[in-house]
Amino acid sequence: MNDISHIKADLYIGGTWAAAAGRYTTHNPATGEPLIDLAAASESDVDDAVSAARAAFYGEWGSLAPSRKGLMLHKLADLVERDAEILGRLESLDMGRPFGMSVQLMVPNLVATLRYYAGWADKINGEQIANDGYMGAPIPTHAYTIRQPLGVVAAIVPWNAPLMILGWKLAPALACGNTVVIKPAEDAALSILHLAALVEEAGFPAGTVNVVTGYGAVTGEALVAHPAVKKVSFTGSTEVGRSILRSSASTFKRTALELGGKAPQIVFHDADLDAALQGCAMGMFFNQGEVCAAGTRVIAHRKVYDTVVEGLKAAAEAQVIGDPFDPATTMGPLVNARQRDRVVGYLQVGADEGATVVTGGSAPERPGYFVEPTVFAGTNDMRIAREEIFGPVGVVIPFDTDDEALALANDNDYGLSATVWTRDVGRAHSVSARIEAGAIGVNGWSPLAPQLPWGGVKASGIGRELGTEGIYAFTETKTVTIVL
Ligand code: NAD
Repeated sequence: MNDISHIKADLYIGGTWAAAAGRYTTHNPATGEPLIDLAAASESDVDDAVSAARAAFYGEWGSLAPSRKGLMLHKLADLVERDAEILGRLESLDMGRPFGMSVQLMVPNLVATLRYYAGWADKINGEQIANDGYMGAPIPTHAYTIRQPLGVVAAIVPWNAPLMILGWKLAPALACGNTVVIKPAEDAALSILHLAALVEEAGFPAGTVNVVTGYGAVTGEALVAHPAVKKVSFTGSTEVGRSILRSSASTFKRTALELGGKAPQIVFHDADLDAALQGCAMGMFFNQGEVCAAGTRVIAHRKVYDTVVEGLKAAAEAQVIGDPFDPATTMGPLVNARQRDRVVGYLQVGADEGATVVTGGSAPERPGYFVEPTVFAGTNDMRIAREEIFGPVGVVIPFDTDDEALALANDNDYGLSATVWTRDVGRAHSVSARIEAGAIGVNGWSPLAPQLPWGGVKASGIGRELGTEGIYAFTETKTVTIVL
């Protein structure tokens, strides 16, 4: 059922599948067994991919009419819809998320993003600008802007949601007329490799989309350093984001960084507690907690604190850990042994810091990289409340006043997203305005929809993806003045 023999495990460069000198093995996170050998692109492979992308930018893709670009994106969306089950299976097999979530949430998100930006492709306009004339003289001057593509874009993708996150980069970049070199994460490249086969089937001009699998420190760094790459659109850890920002400086690359998070979920005493508990539990445990926006700090009013702790305990204990392909499973394994060990390390840190383990607290004895959903009762100064764990682990923190809740929410290096649970509309607006984060959900999560901009502040990154901002992110504004 989970046959992967059709996967072309090579590099997709210039419309053909090319071997790389190096190869590496990935593992099935549910069993720990070897899964597939993938190509490890060298610096010279990356150079080939960038050259192919550059040729397509100045060639067939660059000269294709905007509406034709939109049609190509729709065609790709059609093929993704046709292969939704295959893509969902590949992603779950690779990174552990329950299959139903892959096929019902992740693949449809990619389709929606492709179609949204397909619609943009022939609507990317500059503007005519009123002005005072030429050099202080009232000489009529016609001034306008045009939005032009950047050139070759590097899309560097993490393992927690490969297709969805790639879509946020690929679709707007192509709609704006750029060409793309994709670097999937080491441990979750299968769905992206299948997507490359769909790009080929859709008939995109050779070199428009290229995929180079391999190690971050080799393949990723070569892309970031390459002088012909005009923009790096990166989603991943804050640590790697920092190094990308430093190394892209020497070639003045545009950089968009979607980094880590430690999202607060503030539960006020006037909230609909059933809805809040359901939302907070989803925020902690969805995708095994491997979510940049995971709501891992639940900041609960003291009047409802015990109810919230008990509710999250029940929600954690209701999770069914298991094989991602068993329909009963609600939580799969973490992506790899390193991530499992890192998360287990934080369980120890929490216990050592004196946090109360409400439920969970260890890794079950079984093959694969599973961790128990864990709820701590603790304080905001603990490392488990300050650092991104990226696993199914959260901490519940009490507060007494709105100002205290806000101070706790903002007392963190990260600022990606937050949720606020209250029935008071005034409180909802004023708290939303004051939380330091790129996206706030009130009485629900911020939907990850193609129309809505997404991105963080502080250590959560620089720049926005999706929505109109996604178009700005992949174009350069040029000003033209004509003295009449
Ligand atoms: P990571 O930073 O280790 O890797 C991300 C990608 O960067 C991978 O493709 C990797 O191979 C590549 N890479 C690694 N080192 C590189 C280097 N020196 N130069 C260039 N590329 C390099 O992150 P991860 O472990 O794959 O993903 C988890 C992280 O991603 C978490 O911190 C999470 O919060 C973050 N994330 C953020 C968002 C968001 O929207 N803000 C979304 C998902 C994940």
